[in-house]
Amino acid sequence: MATPAAEKPASTAIDAAREPSPPGDAPVLDPDNSNDTERRATDAERSVKPQMDHPPPEAADPPSPLNESVVTVRAGDNLTRLFRRAGLTAGDVHRTLSAGEDASALEQLRPGDQLTLLRKADGAYAGLRFPVDRYSKLHIRRADDSFTASIKSRTLHEVLHQVSLRIDSSLYLAASAAGLTNSLTMQLASVLGGEVDLVRDLRRGDQLSVVFKETLTPDQESLGYDLKAVRLDGERRELDAIRYTDPDGNSGFYQADGTNLAREFLRYPLEFTRISSHFDRNRRHPVLGVRRPHLGVDLAAPAGTPIRAAADGRIIQRGRNGGYGRMVSLSHGSRYETRYAHMSRFAPGQGVGSTVRRGQIIGYVGRSGLATGPHLHYEFLDHGRHRNPVTVSLPRAEPVAPDAMQDFTRQARPLKAALNGETPEGLRVARGDEEP
Ligand SMILES: [Zn+2]
Repeated sequence: MATPAAEKPASTAIDAAREPSPPGDAPVLDPDNSNDTERRATDAERSVKPQMDHPPPEAADPPSPLNESVVTVRAGDNLTRLFRRAGLTAGDVHRTLSAGEDASALEQLRPGDQLTLLRKADGAYAGLRFPVDRYSKLHIRRADDSFTASIKSRTLHEVLHQVSLRIDSSLYLAASAAGLTNSLTMQLASVLGGEVDLVRDLRRGDQLSVVFKETLTPDQESLGYDLKAVRLDGERRELDAIRYTDPDGNSGFYQADGTNLAREFLRYPLEFTRISSHFDRNRRHPVLGVRRPHLGVDLAAPAGTPIRAAADGRIIQRGRNGGYGRMVSLSHGSRYETRYAHMSRFAPGQGVGSTVRRGQIIGYVGRSGLATGPHLHYEFLDHGRHRNPVTVSLPRAEPVAPDAMQDFTRQARPLKAALNGETPEGLRVARGDEEP
């Protein structure tokens, strides 16, 4: 078996592929996971490998009765030129292009593309193979006198890697030192960040075990990495995070007991430059000069910065409201409410009664009402009582549903073993070849 982890010496390739690939996830968690439809098509082609050190018999290249030759597309080439150079005829070109709809992939040849031409022992043209993209390959085959074209999924490898990190000064430096890509590091920070303060809760000497999946083409080209599990073993915090895809295709990271690591609410509903005024029940008002509680947080940002709904909800107020200026209030179920004040303008197409999704733009930063400069005044209410948006414990997203716990346990088992650096039992591996 190949060793695709060679360029990452810090990682241990534990085993190859696993369960069927999950479908797409929240983009912030899973930026590399956009091609799972194609990947899943390859799962049926996998086989269980009985022992890691002895490749199964089907991993060997089956002997081909045809002679193969590889030709490379040059600038200005089309199929006719390419075939002529290879000693094939205009009739072969015609038979190839009329082999079926899938053969149209040959009309967009690019310099550097490689075709594998197939000939019988007597030299007669018998078809070709052409990688259409990283996930699929065109096959043209002769059957008696006619040719047929078909596009088949390529056999992709999926390899689980495990990396151990030791925090010296920061998560980012530890991840960088271990050779994790930027994308993986961002996924890691995003998964941990909902639960752990990455500055205050991490201590020198804290250990992390990180498990991620690498997807590879048959020629060992990496198609990217997806974070699958992480364990934090720290002085202040311990945490296991396991990626799970539920039967509806929704993915997320969960603790071993099924608790969701994601939060229902965004901590901050915009990108801001600084906190210009904190939550303070006894504050003196900067404009009015009188003691007046500040029941929200002021987040300074340039005028026009988009303001997003902190969670799924419904607009219950939208309009001018005295010192608050242009203000939107959202209701999130019966318990929570959020308020957004001093907007320069509202998002178009919304009104009282509109439902909004988490992250949806509801307005733009301004300084309407009593404001000394452009900022968002943001309030968070729990059962009608104002809470400090910076420190309030945000409600969790839904845990694994009770009737999915068995499925969750099944998906989590090999990942937990991988976190321990073990090789999971009953692992499934990608076949290392492609059919000719
Ligand atoms: Zn304020």
